[in-house]
Amino acid sequence: MSTSLPLITDLSRAELAEWCTARGHQAYRADQIRRWIYGKRVNAFEEMHDVPAALREQMQQEFQFYSATVTRHQVSRDGTEKLLLQLQDGEYTECVMMREDDRRTVCISSQVGCAMGCVFCASGLLGVKRNLSTGEILEQILRLDRLLPETERITNVVLMGMGEPLANLKNLLPALTTLNEKGALGIGARRITISTVGLPDKIRELARLGIQYNLAISLHAATDALRTEIVPVNKSIGVQEIMAAADDYFEQTGRRVTYEYCLLGSVNDSDQNARDLAQLLAHRNAHINLIPMNPVQSLELHAPTQPRSTQFADILRERGVNVTIRKRKGADIDAACGQLRLKEELPLAP
Ligand code: SAH
Repeated sequence: MSTSLPLITDLSRAELAEWCTARGHQAYRADQIRRWIYGKRVNAFEEMHDVPAALREQMQQEFQFYSATVTRHQVSRDGTEKLLLQLQDGEYTECVMMREDDRRTVCISSQVGCAMGCVFCASGLLGVKRNLSTGEILEQILRLDRLLPETERITNVVLMGMGEPLANLKNLLPALTTLNEKGALGIGARRITISTVGLPDKIRELARLGIQYNLAISLHAATDALRTEIVPVNKSIGVQEIMAAADDYFEQTGRRVTYEYCLLGSVNDSDQNARDLAQLLAHRNAHINLIPMNPVQSLELHAPTQPRSTQFADILRERGVNVTIRKRKGADIDAACGQLRLKEELPLAP
């Protein structure tokens, strides 16, 4: 198989219908093909039994079904599963599936690496290599979906893997449309969460679409001085600008914005830091998710003690902020974003 063929999942429903008709087939074949891919969990064109052989052959000639290779599959004691995928150009991407009651949440990547450079994050240590294509974004979902028993479906999707999703909206939005469409995966926008470092123009662009995606903003500090230390790109953006864009998102979509705050021991976990955060969020319809830092090899930053995290949450709660501390999942399999790829790229790092 040639390595330069596009992925079948790079095509939207309309594009696939057009492709079918251009080759003398009826447009409805596109829906049939998509049902096989997204609903019936096949792994190759030849498995699409009610699609005419000639059409299957043409797809085989012009598209790839998958482009990545699963190079690692790790299963955690808590049921979390993580895949390391090697892409066609040799780069790596990671994705995770978490199980909680009836929910099957997948966490996927949008880029290879990340340009944002948050000081506690494994994904940004090597910078950004490139955007993932629409098909590569969807392939993560398909690969994880195939791990589930027949009776279970992916219920939620979070863009909290590697990369900055809003820096790759061009390829991400068509992938989300496919997730959303009935006849593809039918995962509602309210069950899709886009997590961002906070790019105001892109948040506004997303707000204008008026789709009910959940927006999560990775804040990590309430003041510009501290935030710029932790999230270097903040220098040219600023907390107030992000909050204004987030307020705009809430107004236009009616979706309450979530703020993520990675707790870093002795960096952003003081009582004063909590009070500053409460002041910023108390009068907003917001939810804050505290994430005690997951350890990253080669970084000395670490999570606060558990009592410190609890105290931090209590200060927010006392001031009327809606707060939760995120449960850790898959710690025994390096499930936090960027960790597996880092091991693959820097196998000798301390
Ligand atoms: N670039 C986007 C999405 C990917 S990161 C963003 O910044 O939101 C997804 C979330 O994981 C972010 O909130 C990020 O701050 C957090 N994260 C990254 N590394 C982490 C670590 N070592 N421990 C805890 N949270 C981490």
